[in-house]
Amino acid sequence: MTHLSAGSATDIGRRQINQDRVLVADDGQLFAVADGMGGHRRGEVAAQIAVTHLARRMVGDASLDALIAGVEGANREVFQASASDAELQGMGTTLTALALVHVDGEDRLAIANVGDSRTYLLRSGELEQLTEDHSLVAEMVREGHLTSEGARTHRQRSVLTKALGVEPSITPDVLEVLPSAGDRYLLCSDGLCGEVSDEQMAAVLRRLADPDEAARELVRLALVAGGSDNISVVVVDVLDDDGAAMRASAAIQPTVASDPMGRPMRDLDELPLTDDRADADAPTGTERRTSRRPRIVTWRVLLFVVALAAVAAVVVLTVRNTPKDQLPDASTSTLAPTTTDDPFGPTTSAGPTTSIGPTTSAGPKPTLGTGASTAAPAPPTT
Ligand code: MG
Repeated sequence: MTHLSAGSATDIGRRQINQDRVLVADDGQLFAVADGMGGHRRGEVAAQIAVTHLARRMVGDASLDALIAGVEGANREVFQASASDAELQGMGTTLTALALVHVDGEDRLAIANVGDSRTYLLRSGELEQLTEDHSLVAEMVREGHLTSEGARTHRQRSVLTKALGVEPSITPDVLEVLPSAGDRYLLCSDGLCGEVSDEQMAAVLRRLADPDEAARELVRLALVAGGSDNISVVVVDVLDDDGAAMRASAAIQPTVASDPMGRPMRDLDELPLTDDRADADAPTGTERRTSRRPRIVTWRVLLFVVALAAVAAVVVLTVRNTPKDQLPDASTSTLAPTTTDDPFGPTTSAGPTTSIGPTTSAGPKPTLGTGASTAAPAPPTT
C-alpha cells in the first residue's frame, strides 16, 4: 500500500478576495488546487464547485476513470451554473489534481490538469514541471516566439487557452507516474510559480522535510516577492511505495526494450520531457519513450545483398569471357593509370565491353540484369 503525507497553505496575496481553492481529501489520497478566474465574476464559486465535485466523485472509487470523470463532471457543473445564473456568467477555473489510483491491482499517482495551475515532481533533488500550462504565453514559448523568462513578465501571462466551465465539455491532460518513496509532489496556483523561481521552490522543497512547513514557506516567499495574486500550495510526500519503484527498476534492467512495467502507460507522451533528455534523468515510469527497438534485418538489406552479389557475378563472368586482346589498355585509363594488372581497373574507364559502372562509363551501357538496373472566442484569464 502506497502511503502519502501532505501539507498545504493558501494566501489571498494583494487581491481583494481569494479565488483559489485547495483540496486535501480526508482519505489522504486526493489533492487539488483550483484557481478561479479573477477576470470574471465569482471565480471563487467556480473553484469551489470544481474541487467539491471532484472529491465527491472519487469517494470510494480510486480509479483513473473516476479522476477523469471527476474533472469532466466538474467542468459540466461549472458550465451549467454559469449558464443558469446571470451573476455567475462567465466564471471558470483551473484545476490541477493528483490522486492515488489503482490500475490492475497496482498503485499509480495520476495527475489531471486543465489551465495554468501546475503539478511538479521533486525526485532525487531535481524539480520538474509535470503539467503543461494551457496559457497563451506557454503556447508562445512552445512555438519559439517567447522565452520562459519573457513569459513570466508578459502582460498577457494570465490569458488561458483552456479552463473549466468555459465549454460544455473538456478533455483534461492526464498522466500517470509510478509512486516512488522519497518523491515529493508540489501542486500550486500561478500565484506561486509566477512569483518564485523553480530553483527557489526546489531549494525549499529540499530543505524542509515537513510538508506543511514547506507549503507555508513557499507561500511566504511568494508574498515576499510581491504576492500580486492569490497563492495556493499543496505538498505531497510519498512515504512508502509498497515496493513499486523497486519492481520497476528490476523490470528495466539492460536490454529490455519494452515498457518497464510490461504494459503501456496512459498519456506518457504528454509528459513535458524533451527528446534529448538523458535516460538517467527520466523519472521511473517514463523510460518507455527512451527505450530502443532491437535491430532487425529488413527486406531492404536482403535486396541490397542480392543485388551486390549479382553485380559481382556479372563482373567476374564478363572479365573471364573477354579475350585478353580486347581488354582495354590500362595505361589509357584516366582513373587507374598505374594498376595495369588489375582486372577491375578498366571497369571505370571508357572501355566498351568491361564497363559496369554506367555513371562513369562513356561507352554503351551493358545489359547486366538487376544489378545494373539499380542505377535508375475571447480567451479567459485568471
Ligand atoms: Mg492565479
